[in-house]
Amino acid sequence: MAVPKSRTSKKVTRQRRTHKKLQVPGMIECSNCGEFTKSHHVCKACGHYDGKEVVENQ
Ligand SMILES: [Zn+2]
Repeated sequence: MAVPKSRTSKKVTRQRRTHKKLQVPGMIECSNCGEFTKSHHVCKACGHYDGKEVVENQ
């Protein structure tokens, strides 16, 4: 049932919004360094892909 906005407490509003997280689709956390990278792409930060080092860092 719809509830008037003024009737919804700050607590309830915040509790609901805990499920709304800032996220970019197609982005994953690198398993090696934890940096956010595009999925199915080599990590830009450390050059790892699928748990292996693919690109050597200088
Ligand atoms: Zn990485």
